[in-house]
Amino acid sequence: MSQDRSTSLIHHDYVPPAGFGSPAVAVHKASTVFFPNTAALRTHSWLDKSAYTYGLHGTPTTFTLEARIASLEGGKQALLAPSGLSAISLVDIALLGQGDEVLLPDNAYGPGKTFARHELKSWGITHRVYDAMDPASLEALLTPQVKLVWVEAAGSVTMEFPDLRALIAAVRRGAPQAVIALDNTWGAGIAFDAFALGVDLTVHALTKYPSGGGDLLMGSVVTADETLYRRLALAHSRLGLGVGLNDVEAVLRGLPSLPLRYAAQDAAGRQLARWCAQRPEFARVLHPALPGSPGHEHWADTCSAAAGLFTVELDLRYSPAQADAVVDALKLFRIGWSWGGPVSLAVPYDAASLRSRPVPYRGTLIRFSLGLEAVEDLQADLAQALDLLHRAP
Ligand SMILES: *Cc1c(COP(=O)(O)O)cnc(C)c1O
Repeated sequence: MSQDRSTSLIHHDYVPPAGFGSPAVAVHKASTVFFPNTAALRTHSWLDKSAYTYGLHGTPTTFTLEARIASLEGGKQALLAPSGLSAISLVDIALLGQGDEVLLPDNAYGPGKTFARHELKSWGITHRVYDAMDPASLEALLTPQVKLVWVEAAGSVTMEFPDLRALIAAVRRGAPQAVIALDNTWGAGIAFDAFALGVDLTVHALTKYPSGGGDLLMGSVVTADETLYRRLALAHSRLGLGVGLNDVEAVLRGLPSLPLRYAAQDAAGRQLARWCAQRPEFARVLHPALPGSPGHEHWADTCSAAAGLFTVELDLRYSPAQADAVVDALKLFRIGWSWGGPVSLAVPYDAASLRSRPVPYRGTLIRFSLGLEAVEDLQADLAQALDLLHRAP
């Protein structure tokens, strides 16, 4: 049967040779996935992953990334979401219903708290905020209605490292029905083993360290229990959460260098944080690996590494406008959200505006995230920006 060129361009009988291997994982893109026959169409199940069924349910490329993220974090199953924030909201949506309560640390990633304040509240789900550094404040909130407890280490911006074991033990005692979810973005599966500590699931903004490029958005949810995985996978499917396959490939390409990048950014972060601790412009340096930083002893007890991320509290004699001027004067550090990419970033924060509970920080905070530049150059950049504070007005 002779065919029109438009048909033969599509139904071509060339098959590439088998036996091709390379370090790269191929980018398998699909919305449609072909079934060999109608029987396969009827019997293939997306949920047990025994076959491919539809692009939204995965291709060989997403299955590969899921498996690698699950093993990176010490879990068994993984789901991919379009951003770290959507991975957080997926967990909330999958595990909470009207009348339920969810507990969050006050120093949790901000937009996750905002989702609780708005969408969860409007659906009749109550959220309460505990002090991550005070397990008794968590214990006091545990009721039979609590179905989900978030933990995060280190805390967002203020970098406190909680006693994760004490928090987890308190939940198991006081709310055995609750799922414990950890935002593992800071630890990235490298700094500590979340599942060994006893959490039920982890969320990871792959946007940060796994990507390493500052150029894509993705999130994951990792579980170690089939029943919990199914609850999350069903909600994930019903919400229609998909990820772009070129982005999946970029994360797969970033993963082999993740431990090296994490170690380099950790070393640079600690070196610069120690230098900052000697500077008279700062009242304190918040970095969990620095003795004296809040929760340093818990970090030392739990972790073998730290993310390249720290925050300084400016001495009270400097105004918020002076903090902004210092950040504006930086040349290598750029101003912008996120972290884990090649470019170092700085952002000023007002601590009180981040929290609903009182905070012990009164000076303006500046958070630094280390990129991959030489740390001597970053230190010189910070030194020239701080000179501004000593110039006559
Ligand atoms: C960045 C971040 C997120 C959200 O990730 P996005 O991909 O930007 O949505 C969640 N949690 C933590 C701790 C983060 O740093």
